[in-house]
Amino acid sequence: MLEHDLELTESEMHLYSRQILLDGWDIEAQEKLKLANVLIVGCGGIGCTTAELLARAGVGKISLIDADTVEISNLQRQIAYVAQDVGFYKSEILAKRLQTINPFIQVESYTSKLDENNAQALIAQQDLVLDGCDNFTTRYLVNHICTQLHIPLISASAIGFQGQLFMVDGDSACYECLFPKAQQHNESLRCADSGVLATTPNVMASLQAHHALLYLGLAKTPLKQKLMLWDGLTMKQRILAFEKDRDCTNCQASHTANAD
Ligand SMILES: [Zn+2]
Repeated sequence: MLEHDLELTESEMHLYSRQILLDGWDIEAQEKLKLANVLIVGCGGIGCTTAELLARAGVGKISLIDADTVEISNLQRQIAYVAQDVGFYKSEILAKRLQTINPFIQVESYTSKLDENNAQALIAQQDLVLDGCDNFTTRYLVNHICTQLHIPLISASAIGFQGQLFMVDGDSACYECLFPKAQQHNESLRCADSGVLATTPNVMASLQAHHALLYLGLAKTPLKQKLMLWDGLTMKQRILAFEKDRDCTNCQASHTANAD
């Protein structure tokens, strides 16, 4: 939890007034946002939009991790960056932008890759983790640590015209229950290497940020153990429930770890 006061200042009340006016979203919900610690994994097409929406909405502390620097080919969809940012670390540029957008929040940035060495310590401090990374190795690692530490995870991805979104929380089924690691051979299928329309990651990021606000402010989990699929060509959305896989190595490992 953050060191600063729970109560919203007059300036914060003014900034978030349109949100506080909402039926079903009151000062209490806004104060819960202020107290929240959220980690955003990946500051690419999904992460930069999710981060900006959460900063504007008033999430109290946002941590950003991404080892990449801005490239020209990112500018087509990664809305936080401009041409002058090319060559600079994404997480640092994005952190500065968030702080300019909302000076009332705390922002931290990490220019390292999330890996076995730093994931546990970083994720343990969070109330919620939002994954928008572009590779399966990181995605499985985030899922693993979140399951082990019982930190809720909302994961979004966009490849081609397709988008996916789901939530893992508590004892729910995990990412590996849904996509067993052993069956996932296509590590080369990364957002970085395949085509993606400017809008697709931004649609998925908006949905991810929206779900994060529902969870942090209102404790709602509409996509817990559910997979939302968004098709960018037909614009159809489907939500599929998925079950815990009894053979899931990740769930078994987390269960053993928690029983120790
Ligand atoms: Zn599992």
